[in-house]
Amino acid sequence: MTDFTMEKGADGVAVITWDTAGKSMNVMNEQGFLDLEALIDDALADDGVKGVVITSGKEGSFAGGMDLNVIARMRDDAGDEPARGLFEGVMGMHAILRKIERGGMDDKNKGGKPIAAALPGTALGIGLEIPLACHRIFAADNPKAKIGLPEIMVGIFPGAGGTTRLVRKLGAMAAAPLLLEGKLNDPKKAKTAGVVDEVVPAGELLDKAREWVLSEPAIVKPWDEKGYKMPGGEPYHPAGFMTFVGASAMVNGKTQGAFPAAKALLSAVYEGALVPFDTALKIEARWFTNVLMNPSSSAMIRSLFINKEALEKGANRPDAPDQKVKKMGVMGAGMMGAGIALVSAQAGIEVVLIDQKQEAADKGKAYSADYMDKGIKRGKATEDTKAALLDRITATTDYAALEGCDLVVEAVFEDPGVKAEVTGKVLEVVGPDCIFATNTSTLPISELAKASDSPESFIGIHFFSPVEKMHLVEIIKGKKTGARAVAKALDYVRQIRKTPIVVNDARFFYANRCIIPYINEGIRMVAEGVTPALIDNAARQLGFPVGPLQLVDETSIDLGAKIARATKAAMGDAYPDGAVDEVIFWMEGEGRLGRKANAGFFDYDDKGKRQGYWSGLAERFPPADEQPDLTEVQHRLMFAQVLEAVRALEEGVLEDIREGDVGAILGWGFAPWSGGPFSWLDIIGTPYAAERCDQLEAAHGERFACPALLREMAERNQSFYRRFAPDTEAAA
Ligand code: NAD
Repeated sequence: MTDFTMEKGADGVAVITWDTAGKSMNVMNEQGFLDLEALIDDALADDGVKGVVITSGKEGSFAGGMDLNVIARMRDDAGDEPARGLFEGVMGMHAILRKIERGGMDDKNKGGKPIAAALPGTALGIGLEIPLACHRIFAADNPKAKIGLPEIMVGIFPGAGGTTRLVRKLGAMAAAPLLLEGKLNDPKKAKTAGVVDEVVPAGELLDKAREWVLSEPAIVKPWDEKGYKMPGGEPYHPAGFMTFVGASAMVNGKTQGAFPAAKALLSAVYEGALVPFDTALKIEARWFTNVLMNPSSSAMIRSLFINKEALEKGANRPDAPDQKVKKMGVMGAGMMGAGIALVSAQAGIEVVLIDQKQEAADKGKAYSADYMDKGIKRGKATEDTKAALLDRITATTDYAALEGCDLVVEAVFEDPGVKAEVTGKVLEVVGPDCIFATNTSTLPISELAKASDSPESFIGIHFFSPVEKMHLVEIIKGKKTGARAVAKALDYVRQIRKTPIVVNDARFFYANRCIIPYINEGIRMVAEGVTPALIDNAARQLGFPVGPLQLVDETSIDLGAKIARATKAAMGDAYPDGAVDEVIFWMEGEGRLGRKANAGFFDYDDKGKRQGYWSGLAERFPPADEQPDLTEVQHRLMFAQVLEAVRALEEGVLEDIREGDVGAILGWGFAPWSGGPFSWLDIIGTPYAAERCDQLEAAHGERFACPALLREMAERNQSFYRRFAPDTEAAA
């Protein structure tokens, strides 16, 4: 069975329908391209066909994009000359789309048949690149549809002509957010942006497209006409010059040069703008190949597309019946509880939000009201959706309201006594089938579970702040947590459309365990006299959203001091972070608590806007005369985290490296271009990683000691994904 079929109408319009078997949305694969080309050839050669409409057999969508596994396969199958294989494969795609675009015209732009794209809804990636090659794009007025080119989000860029065509259609300036940020629009906004040509009522989509095809329209693309001028100007045109200089600065400002795809995209656009269209396509293909050959792109695709999706679909879900949540309790209506109530109610779950006082519970619910008000202002919500959402949240102090809940998430103060009391009171009301989850960030789940007489139904569901923005949820199994509790947590996370990782119970679980050494390494360097700007900028140039010192300011020094004190108390003499405490406790004493105090590693103005680094820091910890080089600082920051991730794997806290990688990127913004800590170690190679560990240990101390697992892998020149990826035999 083929994904594309064609029906030739009596009116002379051939309708090609894309309908990928077994998928809810169309995705393009190798065979799909061949099938599409064969049908186009047939239609162009058939004198009875006046024109073509390409549409989709899926309700509400045209296509979700390219099956990214295909791209991974393209490179892996390309033999000894992967770059050549990739380039030729990409040029093959160009040839098919160019055939559509030329519609059978001769060199003089004579003859030819109009080809329209009719999009019932969502059209992403190749699902928009094909329409861009058509002569007119009709989109159904489907406000839920998303139209755009999101490739940059997974470390590549639109490489089937989308880059070159969009820039020529809209101009570099207007195309920039669509290409560089992967911005998606609904059909109406896509029309305003100039991406689609017409938005029509869904029921009239095919008729309108047919009508247009039969209207004998002009089909020559502007860039195939003599004297074509790019909207906004080419690079050496005065206006174009400003655009390109600005775009280059913007891209480097945003990416800090850490993301190869953004740079390659910009080069393809700039160089392509200087030459005729067909040469521009070739340039696009070369840069696309360059990106696909970069290990960063395969690592990003693997973590941010393939594995993220696998985890969301329940790759590590135990076998248990559907555990979808219908009614849940949220204990504590503070910062976290309010956010948890919001995202749960958004998912259609009935929420009972409990706090000690009615005002506190109401305040927690008001958070959802404020959130929806902002949505209404931005046109993303309506008074009706707001009312329906608020209707689902009952703010109360009355535990009896929890009756019938099948999940309770506790987010009260980080105090074992308070948590135990709340757990006991909840369990008196809810039935035996209810799963009880704690959102603690620091307390061991197995200890908290002692407050319950059914520890198999007790689990950690650890959200990140702000809940509505952060995509990761860490699920923590206590020693006695049962399979149904894990399934419940996973089904719940799926309902609220976040990405789960499942880890075992150990100090700070997984994410915080790795973030803390990152922050500590930054602070340690301050104590050594490394300048703060070097520390934070080194991190940002690695692709971290904020450097470690700025991160401390955002999360607050007193939180750091509290964690340090608790860790010290728990670890006793083995506590390794004295040098860090010297800085933290001193800052705390100086009242430099971070952004919330308008004073931290940075100064802030009256409005809370961040200024430069605080000069008092340099007085207390003077910068050393000789500063370390950038790579040394970067490696200290990277190894501090990745070695912790390796230890978490070694100790069985992490059971799946995919979770380690996806969790790192989504949880704390770990250098996304690298694909995560394990992918990064694979990129640099385990032998080199072990060698660097030895050097860093000699220079900076034991915390960089090479974990036994990494040492063993280095000796055998193994990679993490060969040894630990699911479904692969352990490589010898
Ligand atoms: P918060 O202080 O903002 O909120 C706690 C709420 O719990 C308060 O409204 C308080 O009145 C309420 N509360 C206290 N005792 C109660 C009781 N006996 N019954 C009912 N309500 C009670 O704290 P938060 O930042 O929302 O943190 C809550 C939990 O989430 C903590 O365990 C914390 O470790 C964890 N957590 C916090 C973050 C974060 O970034 N803040 C991130 C992940 C997890």
